[in-house]
Amino acid sequence: MVNYICLDCDTHEEIPLSVVRDFDAMDLGDESVAPRFSCEQCGGEMYPEYYKGIHGIEYRITDVRPI
Ligand SMILES: [Zn+2]
Repeated sequence: MVNYICLDCDTHEEIPLSVVRDFDAMDLGDESVAPRFSCEQCGGEMYPEYYKGIHGIEYRITDVRPI
């Protein structure tokens, strides 16, 4: 599971790694940003607390939000 955190309302959501990886594989855009999901609570952007992408890039919530 990958722990996703909403950048707007701080909701946490566990998303299965397989789902995140599928999403990552479909995303042909910028590799420097992690696959993101929409928050079910507020519609905001959810970012992974930590996720290593299929291209070997590591993403952390602290990349986009100060601790
Ligand atoms: Zn939210």
